[in-house]
Amino acid sequence: MQDAVTPRAPLLGIDLGTTNSLIAVWQEGRALLIPNALGDMLTPSVVSVDEDGSMLIGKAARARLTTHPERTVAAFKRYMGSDKRFDLGSHQSFSPEELSALVLGSLKQDAEAWLGCEVREAVISVPAYFSDEQRKRTCFAAELAGLKVQRLINEPTAAAMAYGLHEQKFERTLIFDLGGGTFDVTVLEYALPLIEVHASTGDNFLGGEDFTAALLQACLKEWQLNPAALEPQALASLGDALEQLKCKLGEGPQQLSWNGAGETREWALDETRAQKIWEPLLARLRAPIEQALRDARLRPRDLDSLVLVGGATRMPAVQQMVATLFGRLPYRHLDPDTIVALGAATQAACKAREQAVEELILTDVCPYTLGIATTRGEEISDAFSPIIERNTIIPTSREQRFYSTHPDQKAIRIAVYQGERPWVRDNIFIEEFRVPLPHTGALHALDVRFSYDINGLLEVDVTLASGERHSHSIDRSPTGLDPQACAASHERLAALKIHPRDALPNRTLLARLERAWMQSLGEEREQIRYWLDEFNNVLGGQHPSTIASHRKQLNEALDELRF
Ligand code: AMP
Repeated sequence: MQDAVTPRAPLLGIDLGTTNSLIAVWQEGRALLIPNALGDMLTPSVVSVDEDGSMLIGKAARARLTTHPERTVAAFKRYMGSDKRFDLGSHQSFSPEELSALVLGSLKQDAEAWLGCEVREAVISVPAYFSDEQRKRTCFAAELAGLKVQRLINEPTAAAMAYGLHEQKFERTLIFDLGGGTFDVTVLEYALPLIEVHASTGDNFLGGEDFTAALLQACLKEWQLNPAALEPQALASLGDALEQLKCKLGEGPQQLSWNGAGETREWALDETRAQKIWEPLLARLRAPIEQALRDARLRPRDLDSLVLVGGATRMPAVQQMVATLFGRLPYRHLDPDTIVALGAATQAACKAREQAVEELILTDVCPYTLGIATTRGEEISDAFSPIIERNTIIPTSREQRFYSTHPDQKAIRIAVYQGERPWVRDNIFIEEFRVPLPHTGALHALDVRFSYDINGLLEVDVTLASGERHSHSIDRSPTGLDPQACAASHERLAALKIHPRDALPNRTLLARLERAWMQSLGEEREQIRYWLDEFNNVLGGQHPSTIASHRKQLNEALDELRF
């Protein structure tokens, strides 16, 4: 119920994650997580279309990844800013921002139910390397969900704020964020009133899932099973079991017993064995750390603190690798899954207390290198010459001198590219233009200046020795957000049927039972069939208290069977 004496809008922070999303509120001087309809703090960032065409978001949708993969989608945040569309069911197709809007809408509803008031705005976190396009699309996703973005905050900055590091006078922090499918390393430097995002780098295809996949490979190899010859369900159930095993490794050595491919097999895993299996992955984690430090021109001992973010940093092997590399223990007392949401709510509070906001100016970096195509003499053409290097703090302006190749050259082509590879053919082409050259019978010197601002506008100025100047503006802000497409997204989402929030606990249990049925065999399968029928009958009876007690019992029984 709305408290009559607190008319102020709630101060909310949202972590819109690749694997899970969370919403937190600032209350009584601290950030608090808000539970969803199931009582969980983490809402899986997964969307599914039910058989009757209505949308499921969160845990129920995640259970359907196994049972209805063609109607379910996860990890769409990876594609934010691209034109990729996801087909769900036969006639429905969604953009990454529409799917994100459904997750944001679900968090908004949870917050409204918990707070007892309408929620209209929030601070939302985004990865530090998100481009302007990706940031604008995130804002659009929020708008589709009926939320105004008070501001976007970089995930590493939010993590540091959750630890109160923004209250330090001077601090250099490395944020190590290992999620389900992505790995980000960021160096933050506080010299109040500035927080500088020094360097942000990582690996978009490295995360906790790869550690589970490595266990799966090792296990199949030991059992001499060919994954291609296994039923997809059997493989999925082994993958799920190994995921659970991995998450329990912190508690001590684990034993797996798996019933599939005609027999019951055992597999034992302890920390030493896991470290050996994960050696190549642990080595891959080291490279981005070294690069981030190099880009920030820091040595490990220059850092004042280390912050671990993301569920996969719970792995002892990862914690040990970090402690060895830096010769110190990281901050760990906050739950690595929830830090970013707590930090986003902290930022919302700072913004409301205006004095704090004015103290804090967050600077940003250009996450990729921008440069032009050049030739070197007769032999080498299409080399990439960087002008603004990745991780340069923006706004920025950098200049370099180039020369024409022939004395009688009539014009020079300025082709702008983005990327980290030495040849332009391997980088992303942005735009090109020609600068006419006056005939002097000699080579021309040209000063090429790139000025990149925080709104994604790149100004390219070419100045000839004569002082003649040619300017060209390249708008790197979104091209895809045309008003017609936005209106179509609004219409499409407004027409969707979404499972009512209070029906979610039942729908989630049904999805869980279906997945358990699919992943089991024999007697266990019969037992689950019985429970499935029983729960459907109880639902038909429509007695809320009977439904709730059955739901509790069945969820506990499934926990025990590890489904
Ligand atoms: P996030 O994207 O931050 O939610 O992280 C999800 C990843 O964290 C998944 O790959 C999980 O397997 C992993 N994870 C969560 N809890 C644990 C745990 N206790 N031990 C190891 N990995 C975990």
